[in-house]
Amino acid sequence: MPVTTPAAPADAALPQDFGALLHEDPEVAGILLAESGRRSSTLQLVAAENFTSPAVLAALGSPLADKYAEGYPGARHHGGCEQADAVERVAVRRATTLFGADHANVQPHSGSSAVLAAYAALLRPGDTVLAMGLAHGGHLTHGAPGNFSGRWFEFAGYGVDPDSGLIDHTQVRALARARRPKAIVCGSISYPRHPDYETFREIADEVGAYLIADAAHPMGLIAGGAAPSPVPYADVVCATTHKVLRGPRGGMILCGAELAERIDRAVFPFTQGGAQMHTVAAKAVAFGEAATPAYAVYAHRVVAHARALAAGLEAEGFDVTTGGTDTHLVVVDPAPLGVDGRTARDRLMAAGMVLDTCALPHGDARGLRLGTAAVTTQGMDEADMARIAALFGAAVREGDDAGRLRAEVGELTGRNPPYPG
Ligand SMILES: *Cc1c(COP(=O)(O)O)cnc(C)c1O
Repeated sequence: MPVTTPAAPADAALPQDFGALLHEDPEVAGILLAESGRRSSTLQLVAAENFTSPAVLAALGSPLADKYAEGYPGARHHGGCEQADAVERVAVRRATTLFGADHANVQPHSGSSAVLAAYAALLRPGDTVLAMGLAHGGHLTHGAPGNFSGRWFEFAGYGVDPDSGLIDHTQVRALARARRPKAIVCGSISYPRHPDYETFREIADEVGAYLIADAAHPMGLIAGGAAPSPVPYADVVCATTHKVLRGPRGGMILCGAELAERIDRAVFPFTQGGAQMHTVAAKAVAFGEAATPAYAVYAHRVVAHARALAAGLEAEGFDVTTGGTDTHLVVVDPAPLGVDGRTARDRLMAAGMVLDTCALPHGDARGLRLGTAAVTTQGMDEADMARIAALFGAAVREGDDAGRLRAEVGELTGRNPPYPG
């Protein structure tokens, strides 16, 4: 594969050689070094983030960054695509093998582009689509008014049971029968349990709808055998490559042979021009990494760590939605500690713990969403999760001073640097 050999990092905290950039553009280099410092001195608990490997980063910085390759392997609109074709074929082969799918399109620039292409392949403007409501954990592309999805399609939103926090399949079925959607989307930005793909398939079949699984979050767990796969059930599976999967920022689509051509045409030329071939190369590297036994161990540890964190947060007095997790995601309501979600996030930030707020299944208040993909990549263990939960409680209660908590966070990250030398 046409990948440059990365130079040895000058600084243990840096995944790549910044020498050339420092010399050429100290202003931008300084910003990037500061970002590297931020990431290695605070806890990255944003559920959608991870630390890509030096091999993935090397592919991103490779000569394919400059290559134009509109079209698909063997049918490009540009010359000189021999290596671009080779690397895309490797990425497609690895993706179909890893996920047991007939067909893979590895060109979508992002998870949202993948969903846009899936809709373009299966729907016409004005069609009705059933998806998780945004207030319950649906993504922007599941019908947000400010997004193409909400503008061009009629979305009906299903939700979760306010008490259990679990998807209400009775409601999904009733809505499907009443609204007769052309497609049903299952997938969420904050649902900590596994969607019941089999039941979604049954409901889709009952009303003659396509089933689209938006597995942006759990795709890495699926790759590592730590979550059930939607591939046998969904007509189309959309995903990102940069969340638990730990690849470059980007999207992918899997489908059966009968939809392959429609999906490919929906990505290029319908919704995209030339693919980012350096990213396609990096996706190939990430799929290769995700196929290893070490990655399967990682995926299972991510879930074990999320469970440990959820249990620790519950013990600290947080209300854990659905009572725990089966994935990398934990959603908690800080209300029992007398604090709202935004204030809690700000206090955690001041103590060096970086995460998001998110919608809660009950009421209008915001909760906290966190994930264990990044802290697991940097080598933390279950004892560290218990410590993080204790730090969480202390930071949100504000009984402690942020300086002491930041020092403890610094000790944790110092022992587990994202990019050890
Ligand atoms: C992250 C995510 C996306 C979109 O990913 P981007 O790469 O940010 O466009 C789509 N759907 C779901 C459910 C997601 O979690």
